[in-house]
Amino acid sequence: MAKLSSGHGIQVVSPNEDHTFQLNESELQELLLREDLKDRPVVLVSVAGAYRKGKSFLLDFFLRYLDQTYNNGVGGGEWLGADAESLKGFSWRGGSDRHTTGIHLWSQPFKATTPDGEKVVILLMDTQGTFDSNSTVKDNATVFALSTMLSSVQIYNLSQNIEEDDLQHLQLFMEYGRVAKDEIGGKPFQHLQFLVRDWSFPYDHPYGSEGGQQLLNKRLTVKESQHEELQRVRQDIARCFEEVTCFLMPYPGRKVSTDPDFTGKLSDIDPEFQKALQQLVPMLLQPSRLVTKKIAGQTVKARDLLNYFKSYVEVFNS
Ligand code: GDP
Ligand code: MG
Repeated sequence: MAKLSSGHGIQVVSPNEDHTFQLNESELQELLLREDLKDRPVVLVSVAGAYRKGKSFLLDFFLRYLDQTYNNGVGGGEWLGADAESLKGFSWRGGSDRHTTGIHLWSQPFKATTPDGEKVVILLMDTQGTFDSNSTVKDNATVFALSTMLSSVQIYNLSQNIEEDDLQHLQLFMEYGRVAKDEIGGKPFQHLQFLVRDWSFPYDHPYGSEGGQQLLNKRLTVKESQHEELQRVRQDIARCFEEVTCFLMPYPGRKVSTDPDFTGKLSDIDPEFQKALQQLVPMLLQPSRLVTKKIAGQTVKARDLLNYFKSYVEVFNS
């Protein structure tokens, strides 16, 4: 079994200067048409949101879990690893440069079998876009829309809270996605998982899913007293996604957030954060939680995914 450290993020979609998008078809083909994978239904977990909010860092814990669970048969809470182990995987942190633009897939897919015996392949997607200084609004909306349309779970990574702005950005992304969807036909998006980082009001709403659900209910309720526009954002979210959930993550500690020499060692990460990881990661990735990608009611296999990549990028470029 290949080691995690020998994998890398493959850039499968990159923005061009003229704001169109380039599909890296050859590498994508190599990944998705692998003889042992091409006929497996796809579970695609994507993380999206603003730059430098810990998306890639989180994905590296997903990788660790997937490697331990599906390659090494490690069960229970052991997957989190030893205290001194550094994190490997998607590159994270590093000054103020952007590591990721467009869409990346991890080069090592994971094979898994669900409790009802379905043999699937799990792919992890890292994205960058979303309202940082370097990209235009349209580029960002396209990256978000594309990754949402292609994934079975889109994790919307937010810092500190769910703000009205975050919902409005989401609506813009959905608008883009919908235009493309209308051209191709089919159902709305699948699962949207809000993930609030550095949540600091655990006394109002506790860390984890339950607190997340409380916050979500509060934020997404449509009220008569709301301005019409605010009501519409909320209705659109409910209409566009089959499932919307939320999870509140605690602050990971000063080493993680500010120390330039931090390498991802568990001993440098607050125990409360580790505890939350032990809930969040299996909740999304354990065998009984794997959700295969469906488009227009049909299960998407790895080889189909290649075609969806092609037609979606084409639609956004036209
Ligand atoms: P990305 O641009 O969203 O992919 O962010 P990165 O994963 O590259 O992380 C950016 C910086 O945030 C790194 O220095 C991480 O150590 C740090 N970081 C990771 N997770 C968290 C978190 O939950 N809270 C805070 N405050 N910092 C984090
Ligand atoms: Mg990143």
